[in-house]
Amino acid sequence: MDPFPSQLAELCRTERTRAKWVVVPSHALGHTLGERLALTGASWANLRFTTPIDLALPMAAPFLVERGIDPAPDEIGPALITRLLLELPGVIPVYFREMAEQPRMAEALWATIRELRMAGMRAADLRPEAFTMAAKHAELQALLTAYEEHLATRKLADTADVYREALRHLDICHVRPEDLWIELPGTIWAPLQQALLDKLPAPRITPHTLQIPGLPEPARLTSAVEPQEPSPRTDSDLLAFLMRPGEAPVPKGDGSLAMFRAGGREAEVEEVFRRILESGAPLDHVEVACASADYTTLLWEKAQGHSWPMTVGPGLPVALTRPARALLAFSEWVEGGFPAAGLRRLLQSGDVQLDLADGPSAGQAARLLAQSDATWGRETYAAAMTGLANSYRQRATDVENDDEARTRYVERAAQAERLGAWIAEILALVPPTAGDGRLPLSELIDGCVTLVRATANKQNEMDGAATAVLADALVELRTVGSLERGAREAFALIRHQIEPLTVGADRARPGHLFITMLRQAGHAGRPHTFVVGLEEGRVFPALLEDAALLDDERRALSPALPTSADRVGEALHAVVSRLAVLGGSVCLSFSCRDLRQHRETFPSWLLLQALRVLERRPDWTYQDLNRELGEPVSLVPSEPKRAISDAGWWLAALNGLGPVVLPSVHAHYPWLAQGEAAERARESDVLTAYDGLVPAAGPRLDPRATGRAISATALEDLARCPFRHFVKRGLRLDAIEEAEPDRDHWLDPATRGTFLHGLYAAILRELRERKEKADPKRHGAWAREVADARMAELRALIPPPSTDVFHRERQELLRDLDLFLRLEAAAKGRTPLGFEVSFGAGPAEGEPLAQAEPVIIDLGAGLRFALRGRIDRIDRLADGSHEIIDYKTGWYRADAYAGTFQGGRLLQHALYALAATQLLRRQDPKARVSASSYYLPTARGQAERATYPAKAAGLKDVLGDLFDIVGRGLFVHTADENDCKYCEVGRACGRDVYARAEQKIENDANDVLGPYWKLAEHE
Ligand code: SF4
Repeated sequence: MDPFPSQLAELCRTERTRAKWVVVPSHALGHTLGERLALTGASWANLRFTTPIDLALPMAAPFLVERGIDPAPDEIGPALITRLLLELPGVIPVYFREMAEQPRMAEALWATIRELRMAGMRAADLRPEAFTMAAKHAELQALLTAYEEHLATRKLADTADVYREALRHLDICHVRPEDLWIELPGTIWAPLQQALLDKLPAPRITPHTLQIPGLPEPARLTSAVEPQEPSPRTDSDLLAFLMRPGEAPVPKGDGSLAMFRAGGREAEVEEVFRRILESGAPLDHVEVACASADYTTLLWEKAQGHSWPMTVGPGLPVALTRPARALLAFSEWVEGGFPAAGLRRLLQSGDVQLDLADGPSAGQAARLLAQSDATWGRETYAAAMTGLANSYRQRATDVENDDEARTRYVERAAQAERLGAWIAEILALVPPTAGDGRLPLSELIDGCVTLVRATANKQNEMDGAATAVLADALVELRTVGSLERGAREAFALIRHQIEPLTVGADRARPGHLFITMLRQAGHAGRPHTFVVGLEEGRVFPALLEDAALLDDERRALSPALPTSADRVGEALHAVVSRLAVLGGSVCLSFSCRDLRQHRETFPSWLLLQALRVLERRPDWTYQDLNRELGEPVSLVPSEPKRAISDAGWWLAALNGLGPVVLPSVHAHYPWLAQGEAAERARESDVLTAYDGLVPAAGPRLDPRATGRAISATALEDLARCPFRHFVKRGLRLDAIEEAEPDRDHWLDPATRGTFLHGLYAAILRELRERKEKADPKRHGAWAREVADARMAELRALIPPPSTDVFHRERQELLRDLDLFLRLEAAAKGRTPLGFEVSFGAGPAEGEPLAQAEPVIIDLGAGLRFALRGRIDRIDRLADGSHEIIDYKTGWYRADAYAGTFQGGRLLQHALYALAATQLLRRQDPKARVSASSYYLPTARGQAERATYPAKAAGLKDVLGDLFDIVGRGLFVHTADENDCKYCEVGRACGRDVYARAEQKIENDANDVLGPYWKLAEHE
């Protein structure tokens, strides 16, 4: 039982009318103590909770204001210290400056300077003999001097100045000689605070504390206290004997002290919630004390999930909120060199909002970005988004697409432009770097403030509070003045400024569960306390010396400066003192697994001591503790009645029952049942609706019935994988391109192919104009100029990862161009007539043979459909006939051109021959197409040409089978693994898709697959 609240209650009773000042470290703690008194029925009239700074400010402020001195914000410390350190004159020996760019160094120095100041020390007090190195002394003294000068010249007063000033004006202290004052026992005040308290004019009441046998008093805890003998009434009160279990009285076995271990931190928190529910206690009778700060987040998230009202004493890390997450992701993006993948992640995170009236939304923007050619670097975005908008506009006129798709592409083009403008605004938040890679910190901070205020998403009160906290902290950092930093160091400073920030700090409130840190536990006096996170190494600080001021130096300078041993001793005292006075029911716990790092974790010695007390076995070891704690609890409750969620109930109820209970599960969750049924159907050798058998879709997608134009490429793709055809052209699903840019390549194969196609057409068109035949000697240099100009345009659109990569690929492209010209010059008996001759692609592009409408292919017997496409090239041959040419720019593989139709996978040569005949006959009714070829005029293609006769026998049968596949809705998956290798919609297909497809295709019982089987026979 905590004697201090009882003492306050007694004081209120005996000194009803006198003003009684209670000095506490924070207002929240004061309120908590006040409410505790009120809940016990004690009247606390004239009891005034106050903090040392509350006492000091009214005494100091009038005099500081009179002299025109303003308060100095504490938060800018590390940034200010970095600046002052770097501005030290060159004659000062270098010690810390070598590490000045490290934000942790600045923090350590700032903490030390604050300690020295609050210990009442000035630069002149730093004696050289106290330091291990002369350079360190000289530099630290110079730094402290610079800090003092900074305050003096800017007319600022830090907290130490406020206390110093207050000490000069004790005559106007709010505490009057006729009052009483008392302080929260166990609080270690800084020397200047202690000096003020010691001089308060009223009599001091000695606070009562619980005497804890064997607990050493910290050296810096100098205030007198009156220890009270422990008189345990419950087993939880026996925690007062943690340090001397052998001296503990006999436990009562009243169950007021419990312990457990969990197989993970989340499981530990879940078990705490279960126990709270089982206790039947109202939430405002329960406090959860965290041994380490990360538990506050876990508890908060769990409470949010169950909609339990909760207050968190220390607040929650601001990094949990959307605005902070957006800022951190933004900093990572900028530091990483503006990679498109980073921006995409930021957009997908939901932590930023675009606020664009006609879209795109953040999610759509992420998808658009994925479709663009943006790679990295701030220059990539403008070109990539313009390129994407242009490419959508182009696709809106593409023969491969129907009207609906074209309308969609027009909309996307507009969205790409709006996204481009939005990205430009975001990029403008980051000032340009100077030649040395540095940027002005203050401008970057302004950009970050704008991001947090205007762009970060805010969806709840916490987000709103975080926006204000972050903006304030950033604005304060800006007051450091002009400072130039590399992006990495600048963001490190910003991150370290915001990392310690918290939001939503609140005291124990009625109706709310209360979360606090272990060192502050129990002040609310709640009857149920759970102490979580009692893992070895996480309860007390490590015995590490301060990075800026070593233990020996601290001892030599002042006994008020804590050493590493002092810090550990003070933490031990605080933790054990609080555990000893919790009272009520107490449950201690820890997690024996770190699931993130996949390692075992161990209990703090506090648990072993607690067990020794409880069992009166001071000789017990950790083995005994393990045995007594039993199996670790898990997220799944031991039995359904202990579950606190539907999922927990189901998992506990189903544990070990498997198939017996599945029907019940399926009855309650029909979607699960359907998923199972689908999976079973896919596993079977029967063709089902889950394998792409969709007869209803047939008439809506069959080009013979719809009259919608289709391209040869789409038909070939249909033959390769009908399911892919259904997903892309039936369901109209586009896959999101997730691939990260390749730092070893500039152009992907498709872009490279498009570039060469365009280059070939541009050069041959020009030669057609000039009526000249290609001649490498005459046209080589000019052709290279054309290629370079087009490459420059492409380079602006798709920045190469490096100059080396660009030069390497440029050389390859120019070599291919030279080869193309040589092959053209060597080709005899052919005259190029048309290039990129389109049909059904909207307005014809100036090619005399092109037409806006599709070509109607009518093979008789109802096999009539509209074909659209673009023929790479049409040559007139020496005999007056024509040859259709399709360029291929990849590697040559003879098997790719074997046979005539390859089961419908090779149709273009035959279909384009029919289309070209119609196009040519508009100008010459006798025109004749004699051949169709695939031409590979590059080094990779080995200048190969695969030629087919124009009239391919059997085309009607192939197309008939292909259209029957669509018409009957047989959108079966391919059984060829190679078709799936680069499939962009593969995620829609599940695992082992081609193996599953094979067993269905080979099952004779699936006779509905007749057209598919027949199609495969058309070689
Ligand atoms: S992954 Fe294979 S089966 Fe699936 S759609 Fe792509 S090609 Fe067809």
